Amino acid sequence: MPNSPTEPKDSQQRRAAKPIICYEVDSLPPYDDAFYEKAKHGMTKVAEVIAPARDAATFKVPAGHFFRIVSVDGPQVGDLNLWNENDLSEKFFSGKTRQLHASHVTKGDRLWSNLPNLRPMATITEDTLSWYGWDDDGAGVHDVIGTRCDPYTNYLLKEVDYNNCCHSNLTRALANEKSISSDQAEPHVHDVLNVFMCTGFTKDTYQYFMKASPVRPGDFIEFFAEIDLLGALSACPGGDCGGEHSSDVTQCYPLLIEIYKPAEGSLEGWSPQERNRYGGKHISSL
Ligand SMILES: [Zn+2]
Repeated sequence: MPNSPTEPKDSQQRRAAKPIICYEVDSLPPYDDAFYEKAKHGMTKVAEVIAPARDAATFKVPAGHFFRIVSVDGPQVGDLNLWNENDLSEKFFSGKTRQLHASHVTKGDRLWSNLPNLRPMATITEDTLSWYGWDDDGAGVHDVIGTRCDPYTNYLLKEVDYNNCCHSNLTRALANEKSISSDQAEPHVHDVLNVFMCTGFTKDTYQYFMKASPVRPGDFIEFFAEIDLLGALSACPGGDCGGEHSSDVTQCYPLLIEIYKPAEGSLEGWSPQERNRYGGKHISSL
C-alpha cells in the first residue's frame, strides 16, 4: 500500500480560499422576457412529432419558431440532441452550457453550441417544473451533467447488449433523418440535455444520482430556436428514471414535441444568432 499523502500544516488556510463564479455571465445580454412573451402571444402550432417510448424521433425548428417537449401519458425523461440544421458539425455543448448557467437549466437559460461556434442555439422560454428548484437531496430538474445512457457503458457493467439506450435511439433517428448509416450518424450524437430528469450529486461521495422525475402529463419545457435547428429526442428506457435503467422492465411513455410559429410581425428587428466572433487564430502572444 502506498503511503497516503500527509495533510500539510496550512491545509485549513488552503481550504479557506473563497469560491469565485468562473464566468461573468452578467455581461451576456439579459433574458428579454418582453420579447419572447410578445412572440409567444398568438403563436400557432405548425407540427407535432411523437418520440415513442424507448425510441427517438427527429424534428426541425426554423429560427424564430418555438418548440415544446410535452409529457403525455405518464412521467418520462427525454434525452435531447440539437444540431444546426444546415451544418451537423455545430451541435449542443452541454459542458459549456453547464459552466455558463448551472448543472440544471430552466427558463431564461440558453443552450450553447460547440466550439468554434459558441452561440445560443435555443433559449428556454417556459418550464412548468421551475417550481421544483433544489430538493433536500440536492437534486434539480433538466440536467446538463449526465451524458446519455449508452450500450457501451451498459455492456461494461452488465455484459449484455441492449439496443434501446438513448445513444442508440438518437443514432438511429439521425441515420433515418439524413438517410445515412448508423456508423455515419453515431459520431454526431453528443451529450444531451436531460429533459425532465431529476438528478444531483450525493452529499457524501459526490456521485451522480437520479431519482423519480416530478414530471406529470401536461408539463412541458419550451424553447425558442435562435438558429435553424434539427433536434432529436429519445424517450429514455429509464422511464421516469426512478428505478431500473437500460432494460425493458421499466414503464416508459412517449414524449410529444410541438413546433410553434410566432405571430406575424412579432419578431421585427430580430435576427438569428451569429457564430462566435473570436478571430485570434490561436496565435500565442507570449
Ligand atoms: Zn436514456
